[in-house]
Amino acid sequence: MSKDVVVVGAGVIGLSTALYAAQRGWRVTVVDRGGPVRDGCSFGNAGMIVPSHFIPLAAPGMVALGLKWMWNPRSPFYIKPRLDLGLLRWGVEFWKAANQKQVDAAAPVLRDLSLYSKHCFQTMGLKFDHVQKGLLMLCKEQRTLDDEAHMAEKARALGLEAVVLDSAETAKTDPSVTMDVCGSVLFPGDSHLTPGNFMAALQSAVEELGVKFVWSTEVNGVVAEGRRVRSLTTSSGEIAGDEFVICGGVWSQALAKALTLALPMQAGKGYSLTMEQPPQLPAFCSICTEARLAVTPMGGKLRVGGTMELAGIDSSINRQRVGGITQAMPKYFPAFESKHFEGIKPWSGLRPVSPDGMPYIGAARNWRNVVVAAGHAMMGLSLGPGTGSLVTQILAREKTEVNLELCAPDRFMR
Ligand SMILES: Cc1cc2nc3c(=O)[nH]c(=O)nc-3n(C[C@H](O)[C@H](O)[C@H](O)COP(=O)(O)OP(=O)(O)OC[C@H]3O[C@@H](n4cnc5c(N)ncnc54)[C@H](O)[C@@H]3O)c2cc1C
Repeated sequence: MSKDVVVVGAGVIGLSTALYAAQRGWRVTVVDRGGPVRDGCSFGNAGMIVPSHFIPLAAPGMVALGLKWMWNPRSPFYIKPRLDLGLLRWGVEFWKAANQKQVDAAAPVLRDLSLYSKHCFQTMGLKFDHVQKGLLMLCKEQRTLDDEAHMAEKARALGLEAVVLDSAETAKTDPSVTMDVCGSVLFPGDSHLTPGNFMAALQSAVEELGVKFVWSTEVNGVVAEGRRVRSLTTSSGEIAGDEFVICGGVWSQALAKALTLALPMQAGKGYSLTMEQPPQLPAFCSICTEARLAVTPMGGKLRVGGTMELAGIDSSINRQRVGGITQAMPKYFPAFESKHFEGIKPWSGLRPVSPDGMPYIGAARNWRNVVVAAGHAMMGLSLGPGTGSLVTQILAREKTEVNLELCAPDRFMR
């Protein structure tokens, strides 16, 4: 049966939802406060598709590591100290979730979401450069390599391929680049792409399917009748529909408030720098494990990104954090020097981070026609197509192909 589906947000989650909804023959409208050319989180990210990331951010040891790192201005993680009840509540939920039982429950769900999304990337019929070589977790210290080798064992137990390599074996995987590491773990099932190109292909595909875009329009509330939303109120008037999907990234929390839905979320600011002419071009995407640095070849360019800064909804550039990125890179890739980054304008983006490391994907309990798809943190690109497809299964009242119990959007409501 045809219906009008209104999607809030034209990031990777919103556009993926629009694609699968339009493919079902539904009439789809996407509303975004930005324009057709935009530069949000879905564009400047590191472009990695990572089934290897099956451990949620809220994991044992993360609270202690966060407390240690937050005093170092160049460390990969920072919380801006401030009196903010939302941050306090998020912190309590993070602390409650950072235990082994929660991680054991979350890991197979994250794996299933990732593998389903990987399948969607391969079958969605878009033309984009998808480099399916794998990802290297590069380790400078033996202690870190031992931890990663342990992680590789867990990955294999979950059915994912993972190969532990020593320093010489790591060098052999990619002779195009010099690496100063004591070893690595190769995840052959991971891959990478250029986010801007993928987003452009996605947008063209949804436009061809007749999806309507309402640009430069801020959604600020809803008009409801009983337990049904009738329309969204926006800066350019009301937009009516049969079903509404909230894909507003980190801003989804504010939208959810209008629906009396508690969606704890923090903005996890990250930076990236894209080198037009890198001194060397690695063949693989990699993560410099100790520095939490993501390094991705994108065509002939190289993108280097990282940091997780919980500083509220604020996109300003913290030069010290960016300095942490440019100084860490040469430690792993000695052909690079900090000066190679001079003159490159840093990009910043706000990851939508839920406290338990699981995205919010599901129907809102108190509403008959509202679905939430947000909070994908460091994995929004990886999980984008899969999330879009799963959202349409929810809208069609079908059994979803992945069990989404742990992703329920109202799981933090008492
Ligand atoms: C440095 C960095 C590196 C990353 N690397 C990776 C990676 O390698 N792999 C990976 O999988 N993920 C990565 N990520 C994470 C990924 O980029 C995000 O999870 C993902 O882009 C989130 O997509 P989204 O659609 O939920 O949100 P967004 O891309 O933020 O889109 C939300 C959209 O909603 C719109 N919107 C919000 N509220 C309203 C409103 N009220 N009215 C109208 N419009 C509204 C916004 O304008 C925006 O366009 C990285 C992130 C960063 C910062």
